[in-house]
Amino acid sequence: MRLLVVEDDETLAKVLVRGLTEEGHAVDRAGTVAGAEEHLGVHAYDLVVLDLGLPDGDGLDLARRMRADGAAVPILMLTARDGLSDTVAGLDAGADDYLAKPFAYPELAARVRALLRRPAATSTPVLEVGDVSLDPAVHRVWRGAIMVPLTPREFSLLEYLMRRPGEVCGRDDLLDHVWDAHYDGLSNVVDVHIANLRRKLELPGEPDPIETVRGVGYRMVTP
Ligand code: CA
Repeated sequence: MRLLVVEDDETLAKVLVRGLTEEGHAVDRAGTVAGAEEHLGVHAYDLVVLDLGLPDGDGLDLARRMRADGAAVPILMLTARDGLSDTVAGLDAGADDYLAKPFAYPELAARVRALLRRPAATSTPVLEVGDVSLDPAVHRVWRGAIMVPLTPREFSLLEYLMRRPGEVCGRDDLLDHVWDAHYDGLSNVVDVHIANLRRKLELPGEPDPIETVRGVGYRMVTP
């Protein structure tokens, strides 16, 4: 998933970016309201972690503007303020959840997982396409009954495809959601990761669960 961390405290921002990256997310960071708006204008994010007090403005105003623009992305608001009125203001402004500083990183990670799970939680918490299953809660993947160990990036790539079964996902779309803005490596990085995924998901006698749509991208084959 692609995440935006909007936080002006360098130390805290580094901890958040490092932790969320290690969990396999593509994470961008902004330290100001203006920087956040720039990122939001370029990428479609799956979740935004938003600090309340920023050097050039208020996270509440930014959240209100995002909602007014029709953005449905989950927002986890961070603040040093702890009063009930700020909680209410944050939720009124459109935040989905709220975390008062100081907090321990695992608490933030748990809230992020819960928010990212939310749309799927009501129907199928475990994603299933054909004989491939993926459990976002425990970061596990199976082909049939066989558990398939994946790297965090491979997991994110597969999760993105599996949330859009049968839909063709372009290379740019995948780069945008699974890799972060500072990615400047090889342009065939998507193809390389898809090749690794296919090799790991291979089951003798069974068809390839990922289809190449020539010149366009990839899709999860639906039965
Ligand atoms: Ca701040």
